[in-house]
Amino acid sequence: MPDEGPEPGQTPEKPFDRKPHGLIAGAGIGGLAAALFLARAGWRITIADREPALLEVGAGLQLAPNATRLLKDIGIVDDLDDIAVEPSGLHVRLGRDGQTVSRTPLGRSGESRFGAPFLVVHRADLQNALLRRVEQEPAIELQLGLRLVDIREREDSIAGLFIDAHEQETRFEADLLVGADGLWSKARSLAGLPSPTRYSGKTAWRTLIPRDEAPLFAREAEVNLWLGPDAHIVHYPVCGGHEINVVAIIEDDWREEGWSAPGNPDIVNSRFRNWNTKARDLIAAAASWNRWALIDRAPEGRWSRARMTLLGDAAHPMMPFLAQGASQAIEDGAALAVLLGGIAPEGSALAGILKRYDALRIPRTARIQKEARRQGTIYHLDGAAGWMRDAALRLLPTDALLQRYDWLFSHDARQIST
Ligand SMILES: Cc1cc2nc3c(=O)[nH]c(=O)nc-3n(C[C@H](O)[C@H](O)[C@H](O)COP(=O)(O)OP(=O)(O)OC[C@H]3O[C@@H](n4cnc5c(N)ncnc54)[C@H](O)[C@@H]3O)c2cc1C
Repeated sequence: MPDEGPEPGQTPEKPFDRKPHGLIAGAGIGGLAAALFLARAGWRITIADREPALLEVGAGLQLAPNATRLLKDIGIVDDLDDIAVEPSGLHVRLGRDGQTVSRTPLGRSGESRFGAPFLVVHRADLQNALLRRVEQEPAIELQLGLRLVDIREREDSIAGLFIDAHEQETRFEADLLVGADGLWSKARSLAGLPSPTRYSGKTAWRTLIPRDEAPLFAREAEVNLWLGPDAHIVHYPVCGGHEINVVAIIEDDWREEGWSAPGNPDIVNSRFRNWNTKARDLIAAAASWNRWALIDRAPEGRWSRARMTLLGDAAHPMMPFLAQGASQAIEDGAALAVLLGGIAPEGSALAGILKRYDALRIPRTARIQKEARRQGTIYHLDGAAGWMRDAALRLLPTDALLQRYDWLFSHDARQIST
């Protein structure tokens, strides 16, 4: 990617103002949150997304305290006050007979333990809250309909080349480029990071059921997990309780590159036909489904080059079984902003700082990637192994689950020792 400077006929680049300039490719949850954290740390940000409008994809998201404590800093927890739901607990049941195997209180006890709340939100509500803050922030410029196609790195700057729907090229020059462009990241491949995608053999089926059409038990402000051989279901209310988000994970061999595709309700109804009545009623209440092939990548040894790095799914796509993908993307942005705060645009310190970012973030996200995969196996156990899992869950003291994940939820990505 060596560069000779702007091509003839191109608009000359804007000279740097005194603030360092960051270019973020991808305005998903990770990119938008990083833009806000970096702007607070004194950076001028250009953020570009290939989509002409930032439409919501997906449905519900769980935000754990390790993410909400960071979102509080940029006003997002307050913005979500009316629409996020604070679940009172995590209720784990068996799919076949509906028996409860464990209940973990979240709500106040989770908040007092971790100093920040567990929240469940509609993805669009979180994305819109981030977007509104980005639009109000004078140091951030958002560009839509521009797809990153190439990167030119020079000693003192980096350029991202983007094309629009008419193949017109736009070039942004910056001190740093951050690839926040998701699972199929172009930035990642331009950085020469090799690890191939790993298909999990599982697909996620997602739907939203209006509260009035959902079975009564599903309207409770709880996160619910139903375990069964080769499948599990997660559901919780979102949108201030007006919608119930349901995710059914099943083992199958469907795989399609992309984020979402319509799913045939007959397939999911038939897959859960031997489950207990409550679970079947919940599945039957859905009018339509979207499905995702669940894909991750093995952890990398590095994400950064001299003037570019990655965050979120571009860096560490993970299985959703710890509900941490978006939360880790938010952690990445917060950590990067702490490390990059106060850096002079002309300085040569950038490469060293990005190395520290890799050293801080890769071990943590690799552990979560590994745990999330393992969790998927445990959820789908059958026979004697499944029986042992259920017995162990029944014997757990009430707060043992939170204790077990203390390392995950107590983490404060802003705390970086010097
Ligand atoms: C079934 C399921 C359930 C989940 N549940 C949870 C949960 O409960 N909690 C949680 O924390 N996480 C959850 N996740 C994970 C979470 O959704 C992702 O980890 C998170 O959205 C990643 O955010 P991101 O910003 O890194 O990437 P994305 O959200 O994928 O955003 C990438 C952005 O980059 C843009 N883009 C792509 N290519 C280019 C390009 N070449 N140029 C410019 N722009 C580009 C895209 O348009 C997009 O806007 C779940 C995932 C799945 C599949």
